[in-house]
Amino acid sequence: MVERGVTAGRVRSRWTGPALAAAVVLGGVLATLFVVAGLRSAQHDGSQRVMDQRAQMALAAVRAETDRYRTLLATTAAGIAAGDELNWADFDLASAPLASAGLIGAVAVAYVVPVTTAQIPAAQAHWRAAGASDLTLRPEPGRDDHYFPVFTRMLNEQDGAGRTGTDLGGVPQPAAALRAAEQTMRPTVSDTYVLVRDRGLPAGRQQQSFVFAAPVWTRANAPVFRGWVVLGLRGGDFLAGVLDTVSQGQLDGSLVAVNNDGSRAEVARLSVPGDPDLSRVDPVPVADHVWELGLRADSARLPGAGSRLPAIVLTGGLILTGLLGWLVLVLATGRARARARVEQATAELRAAEVESRRQAGLLGAIMTTLGDGVSVVDGDGRLLLENPAARRLMGVGDIGGHPETWQEHYGAYRADGVTPMPLEEMPLIRALHGEQTDGVEVFIRNAGRPDGVLLSVDGRPLDPSAGLRGAVAVSRDITDLRRYEKDLAIFAGVVAHDLKAPLAIVRGHCELAIEDHGDEQELQYSLSRIIRSVDRMDTLIETLLAYSTARDAPLRIGDVALEPLIREVLQERAAALRGSGPEPEWSVEPLPAVRADPAMLRHVLDNLIGNAFKYVRPGAVPRATVTSGVAAPGWARIEVSDAGIGIPDPDKARIFESFHRAQGSAAYAGTGLGLAICQRIVDRHGGEIGVEDNPGGGTRFHFTLPAAAVGEDDTMNHIPAEPVGDEDAEVRAALDRALAERAAILDSRLPGMGALPSAAPSSHDPAAARLHAPVPDHQQQD
Ligand code: ADP
Repeated sequence: MVERGVTAGRVRSRWTGPALAAAVVLGGVLATLFVVAGLRSAQHDGSQRVMDQRAQMALAAVRAETDRYRTLLATTAAGIAAGDELNWADFDLASAPLASAGLIGAVAVAYVVPVTTAQIPAAQAHWRAAGASDLTLRPEPGRDDHYFPVFTRMLNEQDGAGRTGTDLGGVPQPAAALRAAEQTMRPTVSDTYVLVRDRGLPAGRQQQSFVFAAPVWTRANAPVFRGWVVLGLRGGDFLAGVLDTVSQGQLDGSLVAVNNDGSRAEVARLSVPGDPDLSRVDPVPVADHVWELGLRADSARLPGAGSRLPAIVLTGGLILTGLLGWLVLVLATGRARARARVEQATAELRAAEVESRRQAGLLGAIMTTLGDGVSVVDGDGRLLLENPAARRLMGVGDIGGHPETWQEHYGAYRADGVTPMPLEEMPLIRALHGEQTDGVEVFIRNAGRPDGVLLSVDGRPLDPSAGLRGAVAVSRDITDLRRYEKDLAIFAGVVAHDLKAPLAIVRGHCELAIEDHGDEQELQYSLSRIIRSVDRMDTLIETLLAYSTARDAPLRIGDVALEPLIREVLQERAAALRGSGPEPEWSVEPLPAVRADPAMLRHVLDNLIGNAFKYVRPGAVPRATVTSGVAAPGWARIEVSDAGIGIPDPDKARIFESFHRAQGSAAYAGTGLGLAICQRIVDRHGGEIGVEDNPGGGTRFHFTLPAAAVGEDDTMNHIPAEPVGDEDAEVRAALDRALAERAAILDSRLPGMGALPSAAPSSHDPAAARLHAPVPDHQQQD
């Protein structure tokens, strides 16, 4: 159920973002469209207003212009009516204002007189006399009333000369207008027609035209009709000229004349580019007629109405909406993504928690089952972790930090079991100072461990991955091990004595037999071989004992003067060889004092010097030189060089291994254990041992030891003292007891043999006994 609920929630949250974004987009589009519609409506209203204004202006312009034409014409007619006898000069004077009035579309102004057919010759003569010298009246046949223009003033140079003498009575539209003007005594306008002068033009260039006609009546008391002043206009030019300034290229115009018979004729049309969607039709009074002015415009082209604002708003709105939608989508789905990441992180955290619980459980189980004690403290010495083994070994519980109270609280002593352990020697304290320690022996005796327990403790600074400063100590109980070692030491002493004593007896009897039977060659030879074999066996026993001692015997450190010790060893070794070949030669340089176990150091020197004298070519003089080399501060380097057979390079690295003998050494007696013992002893003193070729031939061994502290702080000494306590006294006492028992048994079994030379070590100190190095010999092995 919960899972389904969570899944449904996830599905919901997955769709929330897109739904939100879609809603925002929809809202944005609607708002944009709404605004754009409002703008368009406002724009439409604006365009209607502009259209109205433009239409009014156009209408006013057309009206004003037609009024002006009519007025000018009436004025001209009045001017002409003023004189008694009209001649060309009068007409010219009266019509001059028309010429300078800039009448758009106007072609010509003419003075037209009515003439009957009978009057034509007289009229022609009269008007020729009045100034129209070229006048020839051309009456329309078939009618009696004729209307002849007798004076003409062209208003547009392009139209050439005036046409006088043409009978307008033959053209219905102007004829009708003339008659109407005469009757009404007011200016009239004709129906539209193509001017007589334009009829020769191509159809495309012909325009609908019309004439204004103003009657000329004398101003006498009884007015007399004289004729008309007629103004001819081309409709297209007129409309184009009038609307040009008003329309500004934005208005279509059409001027429709309503003729006398009610028919409608388009006088002119003006087209401008665009797609007209607005239109107005207004009446225009033109003289005695009412025409119609039609106007159309493309709202997009009208100023103020044709703005691109809605398009810009639409585009901008849509872009903004899109951006907003995208933003919302990113934010909303980002939230969903973040939530998914949080959920994933939470799941990982849970898994990590489970894993860390499992690890903690595992660690706990391991800690519980470990036989070694593990204790972890923080930088202030507060206990962070202690396994059951540690609690059992320590005997008492934690006291919460305070390292200075540890010695008393835990009853911590040095290995001798009596010297309180100084704080600075405790492995945990040393580890807190960054030092690694191995196998530090700490004796614990307290209420929980009344019999005491000897611990071997390894200390390490806490690994930085733990995230805090601290230290770890691993302790193991070596009480039984030490006891066993003690037993082993006793056993080794006893075995040494037991094996060596019979050997000494065998050797003694052999020597007696040689003396008693000096004349029997063969017997002497056999007895000598027995003695040599006995000696080798004795040497072997010594070496094996020395090997075990070098490994396990506690160190008794002290300052040792090297030079006298070396001289003693050299002299002993040289004396042992005396008579068996060339006299050995040796030299010793002044050497510094060192901190070492004297017995073990003696063994090292004895072995190296013994080898120097041993590994020489047969007949060659054994030579040994002991010098001091350059060592690190606080250390001494001792070098033992010889002029012997040398060591092949491949063997150099291996001669310190137990039982390894170099190539070419088979002819020399040896066990291959001497250098292994030396390395162990030097190691235990913290030094190093090595070998190289002696530049003058032969071999050069070197080893380092801590220099004796001459007036320096004793902390220079790196070897922890291994005090000889009651244990060794116990061992010695036990060994003495064992040897006494064995001697009693031997005495009882072999009476008289007690006087034989003893093969046992001169001292009862087992360590000293075991470190007696074998005497070198140059003889071939049997
Ligand atoms: P051992 O002398 O009893 O064989 P060591 O451990 O003292 O055992 O020496 C190991 C081997 O190193 C020897 O067998 C010998 O081959 C070689 N060796 C040691 N010292 C010398 C030396 N001074 N000159 C030549 N070879 C040596």
